[in-house]
Amino acid sequence: MSNSGHPKDHGRRRGLMLVLSSPSGAGKTTLSKMLLEEFTDVKLSVSATTRPPRPGETDGKDYHFRTPDQFKDMIARGEFLEWAFVFDKYYGTPKADTVARLEAGEDVLFDVDWQGADALHDQMPNDVVSVFILPPSIDALKARLAGRAGSTDQLVARRMEDAKREIMHWRRYDYVVVNDELKAAYQRLKRILLVERLKRLRQLDLEDHVRMLLGEG
Ligand code: ADP
Ligand code: 5GP
Repeated sequence: MSNSGHPKDHGRRRGLMLVLSSPSGAGKTTLSKMLLEEFTDVKLSVSATTRPPRPGETDGKDYHFRTPDQFKDMIARGEFLEWAFVFDKYYGTPKADTVARLEAGEDVLFDVDWQGADALHDQMPNDVVSVFILPPSIDALKARLAGRAGSTDQLVARRMEDAKREIMHWRRYDYVVVNDELKAAYQRLKRILLVERLKRLRQLDLEDHVRMLLGEG
């Protein structure tokens, strides 16, 4: 079984869109990786972009790399759930992959800022489950940012300012997880996923099941 020992849910289910946001350094990437490793039926959404691949990046895995003309055609055809123009380049979340996965009973993980989370919720309100990751303290956040490879005092200071702006949006989210102790925070995130899978709207066989219980099937 793909879910490494979790009890199997009854019947078929529609997947969900697990949208994670956090101020940079709070642990979103770390928690996402843990979830993707444990749950093979959770897949990370792959965005499209017009920026060139960095060394080691693969088309279709890290991003769908597109030319500006291709990207604009995709916008015109309504192929994005959301898109943005960041640092002179286009970035967007393609809709078709996500919809196919949800229908196949797989969950899709999104690592986006609060504006991205809002846009995804606007497009797919019944499918989005949003989680905001918070650090246990400002000092811990600073230490985590400083501890990351390639960090400088200037970069940390800028990220701390950005972090405060991002934290202000915490009330928009369905759930908030304080990433104090990593294992404990991961368990909270996992519980959110497991319980959200049981929502009535996501259990696709319930109509038939109840009809059977009532002797109508
Ligand atoms: P984000 O993706 O939110 O920017 P990362 O997942 O890259 O954050 O985490 C930032 C740094 O903090 C990394 O070095 C990571 O190993 C560390 N970290 C993450 N969670 C914890 C935790 N609960 N306790 C201590 N360090 C952590
Ligand atoms: P990078 O070029 O470093 O991979 O990403 C640059 C920025 O683009 C990051 O802030 C990242 O969060 C943002 N980004 C990546 N994919 C998407 C997307 O699909 N939609 C939006 N709105 N932003 C994205």
